[in-house]
Amino acid sequence: MSTVSACLTCGACCASYRVSFYWGEATGAPAGYVPSELTENFHPHLLCMQGTNQPQPRCVALQGEIGQQVGCRIYSNRPSPCRDFVAGDEGINPYCDKARARHGLAPLIPIKEVA
Ligand code: SF4
Ligand code: SF4
Repeated sequence: MSTVSACLTCGACCASYRVSFYWGEATGAPAGYVPSELTENFHPHLLCMQGTNQPQPRCVALQGEIGQQVGCRIYSNRPSPCRDFVAGDEGINPYCDKARARHGLAPLIPIKEVA
């Protein structure tokens, strides 16, 4: 999720996928920043955001109502998969539209630059 475009009225990706990342991103590691109390062990070298490793995922850090108004309460300290996840109107990311469809939301239309 990003803070631009449709993300603030969406949040679907935060409630569709397991959000896993290297343990060194979490607090407790020397350069960690993701609050470790919001993570859980997933693999010997990986953590995931609590709430995302289940059949009906929803990240514990997601606030608000999906498709209405949402926010990430650890936005500035979110893990790398969240930073790398591009909204469908900002680039090519079929997983954005797939997540939106899962929650009954229409795909985004890519923004075209005006020459
Ligand atoms: S599914 Fe796409 S539009 Fe929705 S919050 Fe995630 S990146 Fe943004
Ligand atoms: S950490 Fe934030 S951006 Fe990442 S899945 Fe959770 S709510 Fe979404």
